[in-house]
Amino acid sequence: MNPVDWWLPNYTCQACGKEIQYSDNQYLCSQCMNNLPIMQEATTTHYAPFRYAEPVRSMILSLKYNDNGLVAKALAPYLAAIYLHCIKQADKTFIIVPVPLAKSRFRERGFNQSLLLAREVAEYLTLPVRDDLLVRTRKTVIQKHMDAATRAQNMQGAFTVPLEKVANVRGQNVLLIDDVYTTGATTGACKDALRAAGAADVQILTVAAVTDF
Ligand SMILES: [Zn+2]
Repeated sequence: MNPVDWWLPNYTCQACGKEIQYSDNQYLCSQCMNNLPIMQEATTTHYAPFRYAEPVRSMILSLKYNDNGLVAKALAPYLAAIYLHCIKQADKTFIIVPVPLAKSRFRERGFNQSLLLAREVAEYLTLPVRDDLLVRTRKTVIQKHMDAATRAQNMQGAFTVPLEKVANVRGQNVLLIDDVYTTGATTGACKDALRAAGAADVQILTVAAVTDF
């Protein structure tokens, strides 16, 4: 046995579950690191470091359903890098707002995966997280099989800035964080609510985006 085995802690890959040894990255094994589905295409509507493909897909599911904070820690540097390279501007400061869950869903799960992500990203960037500025006004039905137009209609008015928080949003630049960008219906409805409350700028940053290629 290599003597390093005695004192180096063993980590588990947050994508495939394999044990990692002697790794520089305590969250991902080298195989998963090398297979990350890096997004190559730039879009004008949103930012995402990854395509929604393995092994990132598994990580997002683990984050969403298992409250796996280690996944958020593993993904946060990629989101932070996108912010630093593509979104940050010298004359603008941003606040981070996670896409909120419906209250009933939050009660079911006990956590919000977007908030977990937002907190980790905020730690890298030393930006404030505000999860009190945007609320979901109603629970929306599962959108999996809806087309883009129906999804957008379904999400319309699903979010709002509470009246007593409007002053905290007015004039602010917001970095809106979510796990997956599919058609943009959810983040679009959030952006509308923030802009309606007077946000100066709203930039959408998700871990992964569904693409047709
Ligand atoms: Zn792995």
